[in-house]
Amino acid sequence: MTPDEFRRHGHAIVDYIAGYRERLPALPVWSQLKPGELRAQLPAAPPDAAEPFEALMADMERVIAPGLSHWQHPRFFGYFPANAHLASVLGDMLSSGLGQLGLNWASSPALTELEELTADWMRQMLGLSEAWRGVIQDTASTSTLVALLCARERASEHSQSRGGLQAEPSPLVVYASGQSHSSVEKAALLAGFGRENLRLVEIDDAYAMRADCLAEAVAADLAAGRRPCAVVATVGSTGTTAIDPIAAIAEVCQQHGLWLHVDTALAGSAMILPECRWMWHGVEGADSLVLNPHKWLGAVFDCSLLYVRDPQHLVRVMSTNPSYLQTSADGQATNYRDWGLPLGRRARALKLWFLIRLEGVAGLQSRLRRDIANAQWLADQVDATPGWVRLAPTPLQTVCARHEPPGLAGEELDRHTLGWVGRINSSGAAFLTPSILDGRWMARVSIGALPTEREDVAALWALMREEAG
Ligand SMILES: *Cc1c(COP(=O)(O)O)cnc(C)c1O
Repeated sequence: MTPDEFRRHGHAIVDYIAGYRERLPALPVWSQLKPGELRAQLPAAPPDAAEPFEALMADMERVIAPGLSHWQHPRFFGYFPANAHLASVLGDMLSSGLGQLGLNWASSPALTELEELTADWMRQMLGLSEAWRGVIQDTASTSTLVALLCARERASEHSQSRGGLQAEPSPLVVYASGQSHSSVEKAALLAGFGRENLRLVEIDDAYAMRADCLAEAVAADLAAGRRPCAVVATVGSTGTTAIDPIAAIAEVCQQHGLWLHVDTALAGSAMILPECRWMWHGVEGADSLVLNPHKWLGAVFDCSLLYVRDPQHLVRVMSTNPSYLQTSADGQATNYRDWGLPLGRRARALKLWFLIRLEGVAGLQSRLRRDIANAQWLADQVDATPGWVRLAPTPLQTVCARHEPPGLAGEELDRHTLGWVGRINSSGAAFLTPSILDGRWMARVSIGALPTEREDVAALWALMREEAG
């Protein structure tokens, strides 16, 4: 493909994306495709001869489009907002088109320095002190794994340079709550702690970790000769956006020298709002924290920010230094390969930099405030309507609710909940993801897709009452 052909086809793709965003409201929110249905419509083997661009676009429309589930739809209320803001899409297109690869600073100085700058802009937007240094990872799962590897190596005084965790005299223990994300358990297992050394600390009525129970668990482990190593606290849990008490947890951590990692993958974006920062009060006492600008904020997936207070420790844990990567700039410049798992890195900062510059901090703030107000409105409707129960506090943009008709309980109630949620989802008019809380199914309404306005939330609420009633 010549640059001139690219110019023509590229314009067509931009038109296609813009048209897609315009058409979204009229499309059913969630794909109703059956497994295998899409593949059956495409040749199983690749073409020998080059095909015309037009043939691909025809297949996009005929075969691929019906297999898309529309995360950018105004009536998408599932999982969490995964906003791909068009301002950010432009930055992402540049990143692909420029084909930069970061192996060290010299392999693309702009890639590294823009990432440092953008991470620092975000730090300021979040109201974090200058003690934090940030790096862009792919996902929160990776960020949390990196954090737990740092915790392991700090507690074991760099066991990896000796016999590793296998040679440690007594097990290291990690603490989280039962409401923490599955990626926390995965990271603890992959970092070698072992399931027996992952404690799920008790939660309170608002589904937040109890700091007093954490202190007791730590004391019990110490008494048994085990070595408490790290706590993963969550601000904005996946199920209910519960808020673990960071200040009280940090105190326990400081007392015993534990690494504190704060998982605020979803809720972290809301910390650009000063009125939300009480939610992570005490965060300056943490060692690391992760937030995903690729969720609510609007950076195109994937863009996860990991902040640490001791980058030297992180680099010592992660660094590799083969001869072919050594340059005269080492020592004066950041080599982000030593800040995470991959050696090669894309220019991910571009999509975040474009988002921040083209929207402005004030623009981002007002959108998040709109979403929080919409969630509050829905919470109020649920509270005011007989037969409906709100199951958890609504500090952010997720409303947890259930329709509980008199006389329905247990598995019958579960069938009722899954029934009406399923009818909404298969209607195509809206999409939400039910989930289990305290052993019972509930409806979880996650608000915050870019085009979602009050009228969309009102339409969903009407649909909920209709399908449940
Ligand atoms: C979404 C989420 C994650 C996982 O994020 P990935 O980037 O997909 O790995 C982890 N923790 C919380 C609290 C989340 O909301």
